[in-house]
Amino acid sequence: MRADCKWKGLLLWAPLVIAGWPLGALLAYQRPRFRPGFNLFSPQQDMVIGRQAAAQLDHKLPLINDPEIVRYVSRLGRHLAEYAPNQKGFHYDWTFHVVNSDDINAFALPGGYIFVNRGAIKAALDEAQMAGVLAHEEGHVVMRHGTHQASERLLAEAPLEILSGYLGQSGSLLTQIAQLGIGFGLNSIFLQNSRNMEAQADRVGTYILYQAGYDPYAMAQFFEIIQRKHPQRTIQFFSDHPDPGNRIQAVEEEIPELGPRRRWKTDSPQFEAIKQRLLAMPPPPKPKTGEPTSAAPVHQ
Ligand SMILES: [Zn+2]
Repeated sequence: MRADCKWKGLLLWAPLVIAGWPLGALLAYQRPRFRPGFNLFSPQQDMVIGRQAAAQLDHKLPLINDPEIVRYVSRLGRHLAEYAPNQKGFHYDWTFHVVNSDDINAFALPGGYIFVNRGAIKAALDEAQMAGVLAHEEGHVVMRHGTHQASERLLAEAPLEILSGYLGQSGSLLTQIAQLGIGFGLNSIFLQNSRNMEAQADRVGTYILYQAGYDPYAMAQFFEIIQRKHPQRTIQFFSDHPDPGNRIQAVEEEIPELGPRRRWKTDSPQFEAIKQRLLAMPPPPKPKTGEPTSAAPVHQ
């Protein structure tokens, strides 16, 4: 009986060892640490700000309201968000919108409001690449890049003693933001990510893909493919990154540290069906002068 017990423990590990993964290597993987930057806001305030900004953009952007497309993107996005780090103790309002624009882009507002362009879905070669775009945007949300940027701006422009009176009161804080000229529109500070923030969103996105069982190389591959195939339609996506090669290389170097290779999910019949549905739709509306028609500014 004792011998049985002794072997039982080893047998649990046997399939992994047989698969070529020595115990030492398995134990060496560490959960990566993702540290958000300095922030004057609470995650709950991120949601208040994001909800308000999203409501404004809902009226300005041409959205696709096809229930099947929106349901598919929302379901995929919410599934991925379950694996996003840095969400202990609260739940973001994970909400997904599809913008009727052929520009290849996507953006995220604080609190979990994600907009993805029709062009980005069409350009993705499989579900894993589509998931990569959403996971990257979710990286911006959980690292709270929007309100981090706003915090730095507030600190630079308003004395701390004034600010401290507003903290904890969502309404007042929003008023204060407005008074400083920080808007909620497409050129909002909430959407101006630095190069470091993009790199962090890449790392979080890749982590989410791996944890959710998707090919973690898919996000970087998508960036590489769209840059090569559609240079004109992705200018915004890469304008912050003069050398996207480094970005792709940086992500790919970290993947082996996440854990052993698995049988990763790459595509699904649902993704292909959604893509066909988008291809069959009439072309996006022509932009009227001065009107935003796409999720363009995020990567500026
Ligand atoms: Zn980004």
